[in-house]
Parts: sequence; C-alpha cells; structure tokens
Amino acid sequence: MLYLSTRGDTTPRHFCDILLEGLAPDGGLYLPAFYPQVDAATLGRWRHLYANGAPGGYAALAFEILSLYIDDIPAADLKALCEKTYTEAVYGTAAIVPLTKLQDAPGAATPIYLEALSNGPTLAFKDMAMQLLGNLFEYELARRGQELNILGATSGDTGSAAEYAMRGKKGVRVFMTSPAGRMSPFQQAQMFSLMDDNIHNIAVDGVFDDCQDMVKAVSNDLVFKRQYRIGTVNSINWARLLAQVVYYFAGYFQATSSNDQKVSFTVPSGNFGNVCAGHVARMMGLPIAQLVVATNENDVLDEFFRTGVYRVRAGADTHETSSPSMDISKASNFERFVFDLLGRDATKTQSLFGAQLSQYGRFDLGADPAFAQAATNYGFVSGKSTHADRLATIRDTFERFGVTVDTHTADGLKVAREHLFPGVPMIVLETALPIKFAATIVEALGREPDRPARFRGIEDLPKRVTTMGTDVAVIKAFIARHCT
Ligand SMILES: *Cc1c(COP(=O)(O)O)cnc(C)c1O
Repeated sequence: MLYLSTRGDTTPRHFCDILLEGLAPDGGLYLPAFYPQVDAATLGRWRHLYANGAPGGYAALAFEILSLYIDDIPAADLKALCEKTYTEAVYGTAAIVPLTKLQDAPGAATPIYLEALSNGPTLAFKDMAMQLLGNLFEYELARRGQELNILGATSGDTGSAAEYAMRGKKGVRVFMTSPAGRMSPFQQAQMFSLMDDNIHNIAVDGVFDDCQDMVKAVSNDLVFKRQYRIGTVNSINWARLLAQVVYYFAGYFQATSSNDQKVSFTVPSGNFGNVCAGHVARMMGLPIAQLVVATNENDVLDEFFRTGVYRVRAGADTHETSSPSMDISKASNFERFVFDLLGRDATKTQSLFGAQLSQYGRFDLGADPAFAQAATNYGFVSGKSTHADRLATIRDTFERFGVTVDTHTADGLKVAREHLFPGVPMIVLETALPIKFAATIVEALGREPDRPARFRGIEDLPKRVTTMGTDVAVIKAFIARHCT
C-alpha cells in the first residue's frame, strides 16, 4: 500500500515512511492510495475471528485490518505488536471495546448501544490508538537505530494518552507542555505522577495556546528540530487513525448477528479523527448507514454538514465547555474527508485548505454538487449539544438505565437520538469515563462518579513536573539537557 498527500504529493511512501511524520511536505494529510474493499466472505471471516469479544479476538481483527494498509512490517512482527497492545490485562475485558445496550424497553424500535473505548490506561478513547503507536514507534525506531523526542501541548486527554503509551519505551522521550493549573486535578495527577525517566512534564505559566505556540516555535527551528529529532503524536498521524478503524468493525459485529444488517455510529467529535476512522471503515465496505457527527458548542463541523460552510473560529470564538476535549477552532483531520468528497481532487483540496482558509478563514461548498453527497453517498449527518443538554442527558441516562456517561459521550447520546431509524441499531462511541470530568457529573447527579480502583488516591501521589514561562529558549535548553 502506498500513501499520498491530500494536496497532491504522490512521492511513493509506505506505512513506515509516514509513521513518524505529521503533515506531508506539501502541507497536506496522508491517505492510502485506495481503500481496500472487504467482501462478504472476508467480513464473515472477521466476524468469526472477533468471536464476539473472545480472548485474543480484537488483536486478531486488528492484525487483519492493519495488514491491508501495512506492507513494510513482517506479518509475524505486526501480529506480535497487535497482541502486545490489545490485551485483557490493559483494557479490563477480553472484548476490549464491549457494548452496553441502553434501550431495552419492549417496543423500542431502535436499540442504542454505548461502545466502551475508554477502558485503557488513561480512561479516554485516545488510548485505543496511542497504545499501538507506542509499540509501533519503539519497533520502528529500534529497526532504524534512531531516537525520537516527542514534543507536544495538551489540555488533557492527548498528553496523558501519549505519556502512558510511550512510558518506558526505548528510543522515545516525551516532552509534554500543559497550561499550569488548568487541567482537572485528576488529569494533572494522571500525568504528573509518572516517574519514568523518558517522560517529562512541563507546566507552562500561560494558557493552552501559549503551550502550542512554544511547540510550534521549537518545531519551526529546523536546525534544532533535526539535531534533537523532534517529532509529534498529534491526531493527524495516519497510524492513529488506522488503529481506530478496528473498533468500528468490532462494534458492528457485536451489535448485529448477520452481515446483511446495517448500523449507524454517533461520534463525539473535535478534530474529526475518530469519525474519520469511521469514514474509512465505511469506505472499506463495513455496512454503516449513517455516521453522525456530534459537536458541543464549538460547532464548526455541525455547521459544515448543515450548510456546506467550513469556518475556522477565532480564539475568542472558541468556547470553553464541559466537554473540553471537543473544544476546537478547526478540525485538523477534516481535510481527509473533504479530499474524498471532492473525488480526491488534490488541486481543489489545496485551494480550499491552502489558499482559501489562510486568506478568508472559511470556504463554502454549499453550492457544490459534491456537498449533497456528504449525506447520500458518505452517510454523514450531524448535530450539536450544549452544557444544558449534557446535564439533562447525564441525568436521564442515569435515571432510566443506571449508567453514568461522561460529558463527551453525553453530547453523542443527545445527538444520536435525533438520528434514529427503526431497525438500524445506533452505536454511540463512549470516548471517556465520567471520573475524568467529575465536576460536571456532580453538577448533574449531585454525586461523584465511580472511580476505577487503580485510580484511588492518585491525587496524593508525588508529582514530577517542571514549571516554566513561555520563553522558547528555556524549553529548548530543557530538551537539550535531557537528550543525553
Ligand atoms: C479527543 C477526544 C474527542 C474528540 O475526538 P476527535 O478525534 O478529535 O474528533 C472526544 N472525546 C474525548 C473524551 C476526547 O478525548
């Protein structure tokens, strides 16, 4: 399988050539040259392999799917990496991504399921991909005899998922900046209690944008970047997206008993990484009726799917919400879908995401015949949820089903209910556990959410974090000092 850029660069690249990369050199995003088609016989075989979540089933399924996109890692090695990543010991269940049925009332035409993607080490769905990435990075760096220093900025879930994936990995160091005092106490404790030598937490006196600006400034110093082998693990990384394709198949197999059935998925969305993996699964032939994009008050994506207008928000127009991992001003993976929507026209994609966005901050496909196909040919619809909706959904779900959902999953559930079709099971992706966003759960239910045993008392553990200002020279010196 070769990879190309959404902006036209077709230099032949295999999976491992882009594994450690962010953007393509022309500023586009990497996509496979084509989507391998899964025929009925293969789908049947995979259903059997996953075996409704029997031990080892998820790893076997992951190996099958990844193999279609990775031809430069020997099969036995790739299989071992999948088996090492997706274990019952790490995820707590053999199914890895078990479904919970919510609407069991007799006569309820459309069952709604929650698919648990947040039973990994940091209790958010980002573990599903990041845990594999950690193993892939360690493998590939060893093969090349290289090292990589991952520099990132986080306001919560991404940073902790990256650190738990890379801790103790040979050849990798993590330098993770976060705005001092702005993450929840639980999130701070998760990150700062890591004592691994290769993990470095940097609390910056500033806001998240200051952290991102520092990361950009360091990465823009190409001499420093090359000398210290600086890389990233952000959500545009193709390997992360690919890893996420697997759980769409696993969810489908659990919700259906025959491959003649269709399901829909609702995905709490921010950077469009998670739901883009659903798009890839659908393009491969997984029988998905609709892909429902759920946003919070930061409704960049909902606006697009309703009107065809994609409009990047200014910093001041980005709301701080109680589903903070969806607080985005632009959706960094969205270019991948638009490229497909436009019939893979790289020139047009380049003009929209290059010229038009940088000049006007928006583009409008409303009058383009391709836009109508987003729903009809690609299954995309959308909706939006607010803080009041989250509170109501968390309460309602607890009262009717005895299940506590986190704030992001609540956004998904709220929007899913607006897109139910009789006879088509709806799978809502659960993207985090409620304990990560306890304050809003207390606001909704008047009590603390349950805390998995392994996280009891983590706020009291010793912390390892370095605090600094926004001076780029200081963070460079810090990185240099720790790279020996
Ligand atoms: C990252 C994240 C999201 C958004 O996922 P995208 O891939 O950016 O669309 C939603 N919910 C939670 C809990 C997250 O951590």
